[in-house]
Amino acid sequence: MRAVQLVATGRPLEDRAVALPEPGPGEVRVRVAAAGICHSDAHYRRGGPSLGSLPLTLGHEVAGTVDAVGEGVAEGAWDAVDEGVAEVAPNPPIEVVSSDTNRALARALVPGERVCLHYLVTCGRCAACLRGGEQFCARVQMIGKDRDGGFAEYIVVPARNAIRVPDAVSHAHAAVMMCSSATAWHALVKGRLQPGESVAVFGIGGLGVSAVQLADVFGAATVYAVDRVPAKLALAERLGAVPVSAAEGDDPLAALAALTGGRGVDVALDLVGRPATIAAAVKCLGVQGRAVLVGIGDRPFTVDPYRDILGKETEIIGCSDHMHGEIAGLLELAASGRLDLGAAVTREVPLAAGAVNAALDALEAGTDGVRTVVRV
Ligand SMILES: [Zn+2]
Ligand SMILES: [Zn+2]
Repeated sequence: MRAVQLVATGRPLEDRAVALPEPGPGEVRVRVAAAGICHSDAHYRRGGPSLGSLPLTLGHEVAGTVDAVGEGVAEGAWDAVDEGVAEVAPNPPIEVVSSDTNRALARALVPGERVCLHYLVTCGRCAACLRGGEQFCARVQMIGKDRDGGFAEYIVVPARNAIRVPDAVSHAHAAVMMCSSATAWHALVKGRLQPGESVAVFGIGGLGVSAVQLADVFGAATVYAVDRVPAKLALAERLGAVPVSAAEGDDPLAALAALTGGRGVDVALDLVGRPATIAAAVKCLGVQGRAVLVGIGDRPFTVDPYRDILGKETEIIGCSDHMHGEIAGLLELAASGRLDLGAAVTREVPLAAGAVNAALDALEAGTDGVRTVVRV
């Protein structure tokens, strides 16, 4: 089968012919229909974090159709190892689907069903999995990073990771939800956003488009969208947010202070990861506000400990990935139209290394595009 693979870090991805993977016990093979191209893929191409052994097929936002099932899947026996998986749900406004429901949703998987793939493959049994921190599973593997991902014609994953997609949701939308929407949702959960509170979203990219809409699902009174790019601000405004320009010469902190009557915002999401945006997400908070750091960055940021944190009892909260149990609810939101990814998927490209590399180059350059999806 065809796959777009990372053969050596720091080099462009390559078109390669690889063996068709066979599903083992408890696994399903999925014919990939759509795979989102994420900014993280650019980090992986550069060799940023630790990766699985190369060559590696990238792509962690994947949706497609079940093509073959391994031993035990049709009988539902595959999910026995997941007993005891806990899901943490501090305050989500819609019921986070329990692991029981997720298992039931996945149990009847047969060839021909449309699915999207939760990108964290976990054991379901270690201390982290049992306390609801599956991202920190002792044996966690991310598809498209630690094991082969979706920039290919087929992918094999544990059946538990394949979640049914409602008819009303396209493969392309389901694919991008697997990273950007799910992580935006998890960030709002981590920020403990309450109905009637205000939210500032820094960075209107793939995550930001979802965060703006999902904040509304949480019951946010006002959502402020902060970005440097006028087209992205206009998009956020169409989605119901109040645009706040961070372009050269503009002062988003002063604007947010004025817009909130000097009170500051209750929850701020930094989806960018630059020192300036992280600091701004903390500084824009009001009393007992929460800043959630989502954008990946490795440079220090500067805040005033008294003025920005302890004097207001603000909190700085980390957000890493998302939970299996958060995905089914998101799919329902997309099916009902409350989460519209139409504005998020801006371009589709074929499964070809040249096209994927060009999209990754554009992401690194910071263009207007929100999300490019590989159509396989
Ligand atoms: Zn991603
Ligand atoms: Zn585990």
